Amino acid sequence: MSETSTPQGFDDILEANRDYASTFTSGGFDGIAKAGIGIVTCMDSRIEPLKMLGLELGDAKIFRNPGARMSDNALEALVLGVHLLNVKRIMIVPHTRCAVGTNSEELIREKVSESAGVDVTWHPFNVVTDQVKSLGMDVHRVRSHPLIPETVQVGGFMYDVDTGLLDQKF
Ligand SMILES: [Zn+2]
Repeated sequence: MSETSTPQGFDDILEANRDYASTFTSGGFDGIAKAGIGIVTCMDSRIEPLKMLGLELGDAKIFRNPGARMSDNALEALVLGVHLLNVKRIMIVPHTRCAVGTNSEELIREKVSESAGVDVTWHPFNVVTDQVKSLGMDVHRVRSHPLIPETVQVGGFMYDVDTGLLDQKF
């Protein structure tokens, strides 16, 4: 789907959804993570969280945001995942060539400002200057959280969007 020919409305998407639903066989599933996996990863369109881990629908709880950062909201999702939804192993997965890991805050603001046509210096984008260092801090933040028990395994991984490989850093 290219930017220049964006269809009006959502009819094309709804039609695709009806196709999807016509062969849908997963009704009645519960929402627990069948494979015991919780993932925090980036919103990047090059990442297919389930597929890249050999998982399927129903296997994992997935939380995404720009840069796979351990925000309060991400922690909230993990606490719920661990206590209510069968998450036993947590994976934090930022990736190579991530916009928030390779641009400065100033540059991101400049680009958004250019697109929006208004000043955005007031808006934080929380860019990451050292992805691996931030990943280490995020892993620590989860491991030391009072509501994440020690029995839960926590790993920090970099995902390479050009090879499809995960590299465990922590
Ligand atoms: Zn990203």
